[in-house]
Amino acid sequence: MRVGGRLDSSTYSYEKRHPIVLDGKHHFTKLLFRREHLRLLHAGPQALLYSVRETVWPLGGRCLARRTVRECVLCRRHQGRTLNPMMGNLPSQRVMPAFPFHTVGIDFAGPFQMLTRKGRGAKTIKCYLCLFICFRYKCVHLEAVTDLSKDALILTMRRMISRRGKPAQIFSDNGRNLVAAAREITEFLKTNPVISDFAADNQIKFSFLPAYAPHFAGLWEAGIKSAKHHIKRYIGNNKLTFEELSTLFAQVEAILNSRPLYPMSSSPNDMLPLSPGHFLIGRPLTSLPSPQIEDSTSTSSLDRYARIESIRQQFWRRWQREYISELQQRTKWRTNKDKLHVGDLVILQDDNLAPLHWRMGRVVGLFPGPDGISRVAEIKTTRGVVRRALTRICPLLSETSS
Ligand SMILES: [Zn+2]
Repeated sequence: MRVGGRLDSSTYSYEKRHPIVLDGKHHFTKLLFRREHLRLLHAGPQALLYSVRETVWPLGGRCLARRTVRECVLCRRHQGRTLNPMMGNLPSQRVMPAFPFHTVGIDFAGPFQMLTRKGRGAKTIKCYLCLFICFRYKCVHLEAVTDLSKDALILTMRRMISRRGKPAQIFSDNGRNLVAAAREITEFLKTNPVISDFAADNQIKFSFLPAYAPHFAGLWEAGIKSAKHHIKRYIGNNKLTFEELSTLFAQVEAILNSRPLYPMSSSPNDMLPLSPGHFLIGRPLTSLPSPQIEDSTSTSSLDRYARIESIRQQFWRRWQREYISELQQRTKWRTNKDKLHVGDLVILQDDNLAPLHWRMGRVVGLFPGPDGISRVAEIKTTRGVVRRALTRICPLLSETSS
């Protein structure tokens, strides 16, 4: 069958005026496109379609041309485009009310230059910032740490737990010192009666994120960013002593804990937005304490307790009503286009190498979340099995399509 067309009055050849019609879904047409793609040295969809249409007229050719290029393994390899699974649902640790620092994320920033002592001739050493961030209310807790060893980290966690209470779950990236410290902290909590909470079981659950997946830790990466913002502007080129630096960290902590959790309303009738400080001390940390209006002798301690309790529950209600609905929106990665299957051939993204040198592997396991969408996969490579986020994986060849 040939195309009728509108070029009859031209002097082009008969083949060009009335090309043969081909079914775009037929295997022969696919092979033709594939051969043409290779003949034109991996041409793009436009050039490929143009070249094919010189002789034949494929139905749905634009689509097929795009698909041929997309499915070409070599082109994929050079392009190195990774997957983008749909933005996940928020975990229950972020949307159900509980006490502050019940679930925390931990991360480090730095190094900052620090003086060993005041006066002339003092040496400079490195100092790091350790950030704990509460998953629910975004309360932060900052600690100054002089090195990144396991022992220093354990001491830091002890300081945090003693002041903020024992968290039920700690999330962190896969830092080696953190993995080692997780074991010892669990041991420490078992043996230390001051901290162990007799009402709950003594275990803290440590959860580690897959390697190279900074978007999994969006919450505390944002916390680190805002903490650094204040610290860098204050320090400038000066060098501080440990005392000065830890004071600065405490001040930054207060500023961060006083920031609003959601955008302020422009209406004067609305209440001020909640800040993390409301859940820690009942008001933003940078605001002045309000005078005691009620006479404390007239109310029994039980009344006072009931009142404080009711204020806290009021905060929780406001938090559920005003803040949680802000989190409802899915701001990016709305669709889930490409899927990965067990057995697919993939390459693993590596920031330090060109896509051609990325390591190849085969998918051996997927970990679907509660919504059925996998965001992490286990890949078998020549150097053993690794676990990666799908945003760091570039699919080459699917077992189902080949
Ligand atoms: Zn190609």
